[in-house]
Amino acid sequence: MKILFIDPEKKNSKGKKYNRNQLFYLIYSRYFAFRRPFAFSILAALTPKNYEISVIQGGIDEIDFDKNYDLVGLTTTTVLANIAYKIADEFRSRGVTVVIGGWHASALPEEAKQYADSVVIGEADETWPQLLKDFENGKLKPFYRPECPVNLEKIPRAKNVYPRENTIGIHATRGCPNGCEFCSITNMKFRRYYRMRPVKDVIEEIRSSTNKTFSFQDASITTNHKYTKTLFKEMKPLNKKFSTMGNIHDLEDEELLKAASEAGCYTWIIGFESINQKSLDSINKKKNKVKDFSKIIKKIQDYGMAVEGSFIFGFDFDTIDIFDETDDFIRKNNLKMPYLDVLTPFPGTPIFERFKREGRILSKDWSKYDGHNYVVYQPKLMSPEILLSKTQEIEKRWHTKHRSIERITKNIRFGFNNFIEVATIELTWHLNKKGSKSQNKK
Ligand code: SF4
Repeated sequence: MKILFIDPEKKNSKGKKYNRNQLFYLIYSRYFAFRRPFAFSILAALTPKNYEISVIQGGIDEIDFDKNYDLVGLTTTTVLANIAYKIADEFRSRGVTVVIGGWHASALPEEAKQYADSVVIGEADETWPQLLKDFENGKLKPFYRPECPVNLEKIPRAKNVYPRENTIGIHATRGCPNGCEFCSITNMKFRRYYRMRPVKDVIEEIRSSTNKTFSFQDASITTNHKYTKTLFKEMKPLNKKFSTMGNIHDLEDEELLKAASEAGCYTWIIGFESINQKSLDSINKKKNKVKDFSKIIKKIQDYGMAVEGSFIFGFDFDTIDIFDETDDFIRKNNLKMPYLDVLTPFPGTPIFERFKREGRILSKDWSKYDGHNYVVYQPKLMSPEILLSKTQEIEKRWHTKHRSIERITKNIRFGFNNFIEVATIELTWHLNKKGSKSQNKK
């Protein structure tokens, strides 16, 4: 039996496919590790040995629709849902059974079902083996949903289904209890339960990997300090380097920072979301305290680790001043990399439901839900056009030659990995700039 897993990833900013052999890809592939569906590594580990598994990374690999597969498994994010549905149509028109899962299908299973023989809702660890049995017996059900949160003590070690990549993803925990209004985690019923894998399992997985560098895929590895400190302390002798996401309010803990640094952490990726406290409070991210941000960033940097920050514009208390203020904040605090997004209310999240009730959803064309090129809702204190143009303007400002050089030189102090990552992304930005076109549409 042959299974094909497909991540319908979009192409790069120039509309081209990524090339695995390009210098940019080789050096910067840890970012692609974040974008590779980790679920496929888990599903592969749960699939019986009599199945042959292939994986297509969309935007990199070509799909051969005429190859002989028994089952195709597609994952979906909202922006890629239409592409996933087209791929599903192609395979189904050739008589291949298609199963769809992922964030978007979990939020809108009835929609996804129109394009698939079966929809996997939420975490698939426990439903996938049953689905395969039903498939073999010709009794595939239309929907598969877990009955309870997956017990991480029982899951097998993830299988590396991306052997050609030089960075792998590993997860130690799942879920997040914080319930931020915009976050897709809130749309998966059991993702609110924070769960931890046994430390020895995670250590064994890291130890057995031949990769020197990896990235933790956890939504927040910092939620249980005791667990995280134990994990990091056990990782110290492994001599690996890693990046990880974490919550800023958890990173005041110096013991945790010391353990992270000694374990080989070189970058923290933090969802600040906003430097407007009223906006943070309004989206239920009250634990983020703007007044403490700079102090905590400095602490992290003093332990030799760089900080990348994600910021979203267009919350209900954001005025036009938020753009310049955020730009100043990022620069003053010497962030390694800012991620600057337009607020996008993904289906299934509380913010999508609220905007729908308030009549503020402007488009349900999912291909516009990319956070960069479109505004799909009516902001409160500015027009959609201003929100989009100002976000794109400060993003461009971050890559002026002067800023690029400044950022590359400032990141030298955070070690080789950080320096080379920033240098590569800046170089690529400038090489790609010529000829690249922004869509600039509402
Ligand atoms: S945004 Fe971060 S802290 Fe908030 S619910 Fe999502 S993962 Fe948790």
